[in-house]
Amino acid sequence: MSRRRVLMVASEAYPLAKAGGLADYVSGLAKALFREGCDVKILLPAYPSALAAIKGPISRFRVDGLDEFGAVSLIAGRTPGDVGAWLVDCPSLYARDGDPYQDADGKDWPDNARRFALLNRVGALLATGNGPLSWRPDLVHLNDWPTGPLAAMLKLANAPVPRTVFVIHNMAFLGLCAADVLPLLGLPGEVLGESGLEFYGHVSFLKAGLSYADRVVTVSESYAQEILAPEFGCGLDGALRARGDRIIGIRNGVDYDEWDSRVDNRIAAGYGAHDLAGKALCRAELEQHFGLRPRRDVPIFAYISRLTHQKMADVLVAAAPEIVRQGAQLAILGRGDRDIERALCELSRQFDDEVIVRPGYDESAAHRLLAGADALLAPARFEPCGLIQIYALRYGTLPIVSRVGGLKETVVDADPETLAAGTATGFMFDDRCLAGLLGAVERALAVYRDRKRWRAMMRNAIGRDFSWQRAVTRYLELYDDMAPVAAERRVSAPVTKVGDDANVVYLGNLAAASD
Ligand code: ADP
Repeated sequence: MSRRRVLMVASEAYPLAKAGGLADYVSGLAKALFREGCDVKILLPAYPSALAAIKGPISRFRVDGLDEFGAVSLIAGRTPGDVGAWLVDCPSLYARDGDPYQDADGKDWPDNARRFALLNRVGALLATGNGPLSWRPDLVHLNDWPTGPLAAMLKLANAPVPRTVFVIHNMAFLGLCAADVLPLLGLPGEVLGESGLEFYGHVSFLKAGLSYADRVVTVSESYAQEILAPEFGCGLDGALRARGDRIIGIRNGVDYDEWDSRVDNRIAAGYGAHDLAGKALCRAELEQHFGLRPRRDVPIFAYISRLTHQKMADVLVAAAPEIVRQGAQLAILGRGDRDIERALCELSRQFDDEVIVRPGYDESAAHRLLAGADALLAPARFEPCGLIQIYALRYGTLPIVSRVGGLKETVVDADPETLAAGTATGFMFDDRCLAGLLGAVERALAVYRDRKRWRAMMRNAIGRDFSWQRAVTRYLELYDDMAPVAAERRVSAPVTKVGDDANVVYLGNLAAASD
């Protein structure tokens, strides 16, 4: 079989740009596919962080025909992991401080529809091989709402196009905007409508992906089931049910080159299941540099997360005094809701060196907290997959999680049976509320007091394997399972004239230009 060419379109990819687990997924999967022999190119906006991290040799190409966005070019290079990376450069849209979606004050960029419309337009151009770049994908792998419209663009193209896989990482982000975005996307008004990308009078970028992609994937088997019901479907459960068996769950893997206590060079000392001594050094480093009072026999619970309703950050604020009272210390690293950030900082003043809070985003601190802590609090009201609890396992830091989505697939709750069988790796609670979380904390503290048992659980946790291999095999099967690029994919649909050629909506000319 010829080498599969995969265009991976995303709004984040570690280490070029990261706001959460999506970045780890894109880089981890792209690297794993590359190792399986795929020719993968990641397509990403040229944020300042991406321009700083991309590796050479670098070429720049001018992108013509997208005048409504201003001057656009494409920068071709490689990620530090050696995967091909193409950055869509448009300084008026991407050269800003902040993260991929928000400014430094945590407010969504008001022109996000335009910012990600451009990513989709350039993606469409590359997917159809229009221009001097001879590379053309067999498969376009789309991730979350910022890339959804590309599925519609390709479905409606009057040209042979690659197959599309749309991966839902989080249903809660619908990517809503006004319908006047359609000309920018080069999509006809006909796509509005219940079976198209309309969501109660708005356009939903997410719905575009799930309505038009050839296949829809979610990032765990449990979440694939959960989102078919109103509780987790975010208003799109009906649209999802309509896709029937074309939605599958493939649980994420993790990249153990980045997240493994044995090889992590960001932490004070390496350690593994059969040599746990280094963990004590990591704990000492955490106490010293983060300002926690050193206390023997008191466990440190870490919380490393976006501070959002999904991650039960409000419940953490309410639970913190009781967790300290029950006999644990807290080390919190988080960015998100400003009121919650303030409330957490107030708690750290109140509890001085028993609760430490680092507001903000700090990749290195995340590794050091994971290594130095005894347990990880990873509660969630819903969780498509969750990576942080899987990382915690490999650091022997036992996760305390709610029984939902990917959390319940990756953690084995400590009950008499699993403890006896030596399979327990963490603590799980059913009621996603304060009482539920505190109940699990209490159980964790009880096991912690039995140090032999706790250490056995640490070894179980470290020994679990969630590497990308299993998921990559399933993605490759999925790619192979889809009909090859063929004439039957040509769907006649009305198109909106945007450029000079009325038949080819979004295709500009990609002309090589000197840098
Ligand atoms: P989600 O993608 O929903 O935010 P995941 O558990 O899948 O949750 O992934 C979270 C990723 O983001 C992890 O790599 C975690 O280390 C990282 N992360 C979250 N918050 C922070 C933060 N404040 N500082 C550094 N890393 C963070």
